[in-house]
Amino acid sequence: MANGICRSDWHLWQGGWDWVGFVPELPAVLGHEYCGVVEEVGANVRSFEKGDRVVAPFLHGCGGCGTCAQGHQHICEDPRVAGMHYTGGMAEFTTVGRANLNLVRLPDAIPFADAAGLGCRFMTSYWGLVEHAKVGAGEWTVVYGCGGVGLAAVNIASALGSNVIAVSRTPEKLGMAKEVGAVHTITAGDKAHEEVLEYTGGGAHVAVDALGTNATWTPSFLSLRARGRLVRLGVSGQEDKGQLPLLADVMLLKELRIFGSFGMPARAYPEMLRMVESRKLTPGKLVNKRISLEEVAGELESMTDFNTVGMSVLSLE
Ligand SMILES: [Zn+2]
Ligand SMILES: [Zn+2]
Repeated sequence: MANGICRSDWHLWQGGWDWVGFVPELPAVLGHEYCGVVEEVGANVRSFEKGDRVVAPFLHGCGGCGTCAQGHQHICEDPRVAGMHYTGGMAEFTTVGRANLNLVRLPDAIPFADAAGLGCRFMTSYWGLVEHAKVGAGEWTVVYGCGGVGLAAVNIASALGSNVIAVSRTPEKLGMAKEVGAVHTITAGDKAHEEVLEYTGGGAHVAVDALGTNATWTPSFLSLRARGRLVRLGVSGQEDKGQLPLLADVMLLKELRIFGSFGMPARAYPEMLRMVESRKLTPGKLVNKRISLEEVAGELESMTDFNTVGMSVLSLE
């Protein structure tokens, strides 16, 4: 019914993620932020039936490896990723393997278009902030980068009671950050981290690198107070290929904690969905454009210059 157009689709389309092994098996249909209605279930599916409204995380676990056995299906050792290992959501039908493990029921109160970011961007930020950083009430959280993941992080940290500062070079994105909960915004630049230190009276408790370039990674480090937590969301791009400088002495002297966070297991969805259902989290506010299947290719092309604001959603409604 709906599928978010994510920057990861753009990276896969560009063929630019070979160093992490994210290379689609061609021909491929991309789209990893889908939601819809169950049309048919396999013989062993017990938890779902035809007609159920559902959403799924972008990475599906095998259910048999040691990592899955520990409940970490989102970093499974034999993963199945939409658009890479099977037909993704930029289509009218897709398949979810091991649905008992990997599929999630979508409450009636959440429209499909609002749920189109829940398969990747929204849940990625949720897991990073709740499971890893454990963001608390009254803490300062600074979010570097206000694409879909960054804006979701602003919305989530704010709902959890944190005071959020958003940093971006694009005024429209900072405006959107304010709409979804930021109490303060800063224009990205060489001095951004100094502004954070001053505004927070010594640094943020939590910093989120929501883009993964050196332009967001290093200032995230420098924005933290002693014992601050840094959350890294999103795979880096061609220019860095995952090789980013680690400020090891800053980390040591301030006893910083650094978390990598990648997706979220299906089992963790219900708590997040309750917050969406009760309107504490508002993923629908990030959706600023609905497009048809025919418009997807043009939308991917327009992402090349990073000028898209908020989320575009492929909607069949
Ligand atoms: Zn597994
Ligand atoms: Zn994505």
